[in-house]
Order: sequence, then structure tokens, then C-alpha cells
Amino acid sequence: MEFCPKCGMRLVLSVKEKKSSRVSLKCPNCNYVLRGKKTSQPALVKPTEKPSKESIIIIGEKEAKLKTLPTQKAQCPKCGNMEAYVWMVQTRGADESSTQFFRCTKCGMTWREYS
Ligand SMILES: [Zn+2]
Ligand SMILES: [Zn+2]
Repeated sequence: MEFCPKCGMRLVLSVKEKKSSRVSLKCPNCNYVLRGKKTSQPALVKPTEKPSKESIIIIGEKEAKLKTLPTQKAQCPKCGNMEAYVWMVQTRGADESSTQFFRCTKCGMTWREYS
């Protein structure tokens, strides 16, 4: 149970996005919102997933000219948006395999397609 740090009222659950598991707690009195509690992930803001053993080339903002990238129908794991920019990256060390990356057109979340 959480209490509002501003006025001490008991916070109530306020589900923000139906498709994600993220929930927020909201104060019914002063509308203070406590975000990201009670989820499977820690409340810390993690930019992306941790790189695994294989070397993953992360495309930076400069390299990823997003406006020129094609978009594809893919569901963002973060916000549930159904459109994402898509590009392929050759992973070092892996034999001829390349990884498909997605970036949400809405929230900027980047993730990989596992095949
Ligand atoms: Zn309050
Ligand atoms: Zn998104």
C-alpha cells in the first residue's frame, strides 16, 4: 500500500496502458501520480535491454536516420503502438546472421527481433 507523499491520502491503482503491464498509482485527492510501481521491472528507467554476450551494434541517434527508415507493423513492447521503424544490423561474430531491429514510432523504444 502506498500513500501520497504530498497529502497522505491512500493511492489508488490507475492503469495507464491496457496492453502493457505498467500501472500507475494515483492520489484521488490531489492527483499526484506515482509511476511505474508494482511492475515486473524495477522502477529504474532502463534505456534498453542489456547487451548480451554477442556484440550488438547499437545504432545511435545520428546513424539512425529514422525518417528514411521503412516502417513495419510491429507491436511495441513498451507502449503497445503498432508501428515501428525497422532496420537490419549485422552482428559481429555471428555467421552471416543479421538482427532485425525495431524502433517504436511513438515512444522511441528500440528492441530486437529474435528469430
Ligand atoms: Zn495527494
Ligand atoms: Zn512504443
